[in-house]
Amino acid sequence: MKVAVVAVLVWLVAASSYAGQARGGRGAQPPGPSVTVNGQTWTQQSLFQRNVGGPDDMTTPFPPHKIIGNIYYVGTKSLAVFLVVTPAGNILINSTYERNVPIIQKSIEQLGFKFSDTKILLGSHAHGDHQEADAMVKQMTGAQVMAMAEDVPALQAIKPGGKEHPIDRILHDGEAITLGGTTLVAHLTPGHTRGCTTWVMRTQEGGKSYDVMFSCSLRPPGVLTPSVVDELNHSFKVVHALPCDVPLGDHGAQYSMQEKFAKVRPGGPNPFIDPAGCAVEPDIQEAMFHAILAEQRAAAPVK
Ligand SMILES: [Zn+2]
Repeated sequence: MKVAVVAVLVWLVAASSYAGQARGGRGAQPPGPSVTVNGQTWTQQSLFQRNVGGPDDMTTPFPPHKIIGNIYYVGTKSLAVFLVVTPAGNILINSTYERNVPIIQKSIEQLGFKFSDTKILLGSHAHGDHQEADAMVKQMTGAQVMAMAEDVPALQAIKPGGKEHPIDRILHDGEAITLGGTTLVAHLTPGHTRGCTTWVMRTQEGGKSYDVMFSCSLRPPGVLTPSVVDELNHSFKVVHALPCDVPLGDHGAQYSMQEKFAKVRPGGPNPFIDPAGCAVEPDIQEAMFHAILAEQRAAAPVK
């Protein structure tokens, strides 16, 4: 009983610091407007809770698994980390929190790969729950850290224990990274952060090619400035136009990771192949974006 209470308290503290950070450091906010998409109703608060999951989900291992082709899941229950395996070494997407690095390392080893083979470290966006551990991963593996130019200032402000945030290569919208025959293209999809990056690559399975989209969060901040409005309008257009057979996200909940994983059967269809699912998360976030914007405009009508 006592343990459960403590766990919930820890979770509340973690959740509120995550929320504060995700909203740009502002304090507690009202739940905001609600939207109904595909029969499900969401508020800003419930979307945030969905991403974080239950108590401790951000720091609890999830079974590492193959997603498709040369792409594997090595993250926690609610923070997604992806491993792209190539003959020339591996690419890791998202380092999450420093306290999760042992989980990531163990997950990679459980799949039969080596953490020390990580050659490139990429990220979805400059928030601590996705990229706090970049310096630690680089120290442990020697990986080259690559980041979208627009996220560099925010990344440089993430300094766990005073460590400088490493950035070995600065990327721009549309730039490609190739390692061992795999090419990932970085698409700038800002709004949640200035440099939020949607990564796209092709992979092969069962003699077919599939477009995989590692989405960046499209969750709007609580207050929409004119520049964030422009950024999100741009980003929704971009993500709807990108080729996509396999939608992934920076939180597993953005692509129903746990539900899909539960459907994996040896020799069965791959539940992660879900072209119809590619629009689900953008549609929810776009509806929320318009609802927040409408509420904000009603509160302060443009003269
Ligand atoms: Zn974020």
